[in-house]
Amino acid sequence: MIRSPEEIEKMRRAGRVVAEILERTRAAVRPGVTTREVDAVAREVLERRGARSNFLNYHGFPAVICTSPNDMIVHGIPGEYVVKDGDILSVDCGAIVEGYHGDAAYTVAVGEVSDVARRLVEATERSLWAGIDVMHAGNRLHDIGREVQRVAEAAGFSVVRKYVGHAIGTEMHEEPQVPNYWPGTPGPRLKVGNVYAVEPMVNAGSYDTVELDDGWSVVTEDGQLSAHFEHTIAVTEDGPEVLTAP
Ligand code: MG
Ligand code: MG
Repeated sequence: MIRSPEEIEKMRRAGRVVAEILERTRAAVRPGVTTREVDAVAREVLERRGARSNFLNYHGFPAVICTSPNDMIVHGIPGEYVVKDGDILSVDCGAIVEGYHGDAAYTVAVGEVSDVARRLVEATERSLWAGIDVMHAGNRLHDIGREVQRVAEAAGFSVVRKYVGHAIGTEMHEEPQVPNYWPGTPGPRLKVGNVYAVEPMVNAGSYDTVELDDGWSVVTEDGQLSAHFEHTIAVTEDGPEVLTAP
């Protein structure tokens, strides 16, 4: 899908709302806060800026962000979980402005975390930026995953296979998917006007995943930690433009 400059401008506006949610929720994550309270911070931003949530009611999802602590990879439901010193917490959020979507995520280390937690969060964020760096028109879609995987595995971690990034625009999840690893083929060429959500999920142990009985939460099969970073990025004449960057 090629987005016009007018469409990209609307996605910039959605991205700015997402960027504010990233900043506000990150500032709210501290020992003692519940994940429901973090969700409330995101709701306040959406309401104040007149944006709609793309998460709320998505296949019945009950909140505007996902909160996934420690060994939870993605899709955690905000609730009574109390954040504690030493946790890592992944927060995934989005917004719709004038019918266009933004989608982004980060993992925050709370207080004093273990050495492996600190290295995992750092490597996962670095792997996202390595993927973004190759998002120039003419490169191949799967160059992104190759770079993500290279950085994550060089740090001694594994890249989740089952959950991937995606094109984004008037829907949150559009085709094609964006794997965070080299899938064996180069994929289509990147073109000016393409917009993708790139979102590496990186595990400290194996990349195998398990879905919990709540029908949403996805955890690591081996119980080790997982981190998640995501941005929405447009391919422009001047290279990648990160629409959701704070
Ligand atoms: Mg997301
Ligand atoms: Mg996404």
